[in-house]
Amino acid sequence: MAYDFDLYVIGAGSGGVRSARFAAGFGAKVAVAESRYLGGTCVNVGCVPKKLLVYGAHFAEDFEQAQGFGWTLGDASFDWPTLIANKDREIHRLNGIYRNLLVNSGVTLHEGHAKLIDPHQVEVNGQRYTAKHILIATGGWPQIPDIPGREHAISSNEAFFLKELPKRVLVVGGGYIAVEFAGIFHGLGADTTLLYRGELFLRGFDGAVRKHLQEELTKRGMNLQFNSDIKRIDKQADGSLNVTLKDGRELVADCVFYATGRRPMLDNLGLENTGVKLDERGFVEVDEQYQSAEPSILAIGDVIGRVQLTPVALAEGMAVARRLFKPEQYRPVDYRMIPTAVFSLPNIGTVGLTEEQAREEGYEVQIFESRFRPMKLTLTECQERTLMKLVVDAKTDKVLGCHMVGPEAGEIVQGLAIALKAGATKRDFDETIGVHPTAAEEFVTMRTPVGA
Ligand code: FAD
Ligand code: NDP
Repeated sequence: MAYDFDLYVIGAGSGGVRSARFAAGFGAKVAVAESRYLGGTCVNVGCVPKKLLVYGAHFAEDFEQAQGFGWTLGDASFDWPTLIANKDREIHRLNGIYRNLLVNSGVTLHEGHAKLIDPHQVEVNGQRYTAKHILIATGGWPQIPDIPGREHAISSNEAFFLKELPKRVLVVGGGYIAVEFAGIFHGLGADTTLLYRGELFLRGFDGAVRKHLQEELTKRGMNLQFNSDIKRIDKQADGSLNVTLKDGRELVADCVFYATGRRPMLDNLGLENTGVKLDERGFVEVDEQYQSAEPSILAIGDVIGRVQLTPVALAEGMAVARRLFKPEQYRPVDYRMIPTAVFSLPNIGTVGLTEEQAREEGYEVQIFESRFRPMKLTLTECQERTLMKLVVDAKTDKVLGCHMVGPEAGEIVQGLAIALKAGATKRDFDETIGVHPTAAEEFVTMRTPVGA
């Protein structure tokens, strides 16, 4: 049968665009449908605008520290609408770049909601298109628990477009988004409380990293409330929000921001017209090569709920394009040693196993740790400390994990990730000459294990 397209991609986000462009580059006839915004979550309401806001929030401490270096500044003031307008302009520019990337690579763009009609057919804006392969790359959507008053809460989607900076913000959750946005609001001057249901936030990260960040955020004056969860939210006559916690305590805020995970975006996608199956968490179930239970339909990125990071969606998108249209270049995505950063203030950077994971996996571990006050702060009042940690396999000397809390941790860990992926040993680290004076050199000068 002749199809309209070799590949029909639903969703022009990180994974979808990458897959569509590469498939077209390999000579396939490709279309992509996008219902909301070109570039998807990352470009519009994720990584990019988030990082711009983090940069904005960082200036508060830059101004403060500048005095130690002899600078006298006038009264600094911050204007949220200016930051948001400038951010919007940049995102608009990026949307245009994504449009050009697609069009220039020969991909047909359909702007509208796509619905599956059958395993080889998609409907967009009332038009039907057939395709040999269909790729679901529809991403995710914030998930807010169903509590009384949830309609008064916002998610990251709305936070990027608030008209003004709220004076008192309650951030709920203990994952990436909660920690990053608590840092943004606090840095920009809002009275910020981070509320997390468990003992300590950032479950899954190295224990020393979690504890260190807790200490640093507390030093900065952020209000951290662990073992706390919201029972209900009531709007007051003056517009403020009265928040009742499960333990009976009451808090007042102008904005309650939920960052309690993301669900797969499958709304009105027409999966019922196909044999696609979902896993027990509701994400699209795929095999090792991203094929769903319906042989003609594949899925990648956040919608499969593996590792919800842009570079992972990109890698999966590329793997699918190669598998379908350039099989001789196909390489499976390697999910080990994925580096990641939390753009909290200060940042977390991490790659490889945490100490807890390494012990659980039966490794005999050697731990190297360094905590120090960064040189940049020595002329200032700021008492922030940096943490660096190496988890080493005592038997083979291989470095299993690198973890850092401190300025530019993400930038530093990206380089270390290559070393770990190449199987670097602690001896390789020791024999590497440092760059002086940097914070990063500490990773190659830690000599004495702190625990075994
Ligand atoms: P998406 O990028 O979400 O793209 C899916 C696209 O599909 C969307 O454009 C959507 O409109 C479209 N779509 C959905 N349904 C349909 C339909 N039926 N028809 C047509 N189009 C449809 N990751 C990082 O690596 N680093 C970060 O710093 C980072 N920060 C983040 C900050 C926030 C606040 C959030 C929310 C996420 C962040 N992420 C970050 C995660 C990252 O954004 C995602 O992992 C990534 O965008 C997933 O890409 P994707 O292609 O799977 O989906
Ligand atoms: P995460 O899954 O990272 O964290 C969700 C948090 O919400 C956890 O602390 C979880 O607690 C808590 N939670 C879940 N359900 C409830 C509930 N019903 N009530 C109270 N608390 C709850 O999700 P995020 O929303 O922070 O981010 C989604 C994903 O986006 C991330 O996992 C990450 O992959 C990606 N991302 C990446 C970024 C980066 O690379 N810098 C930045 C932002 C997002 P518990 O731990 O107890 O389960």
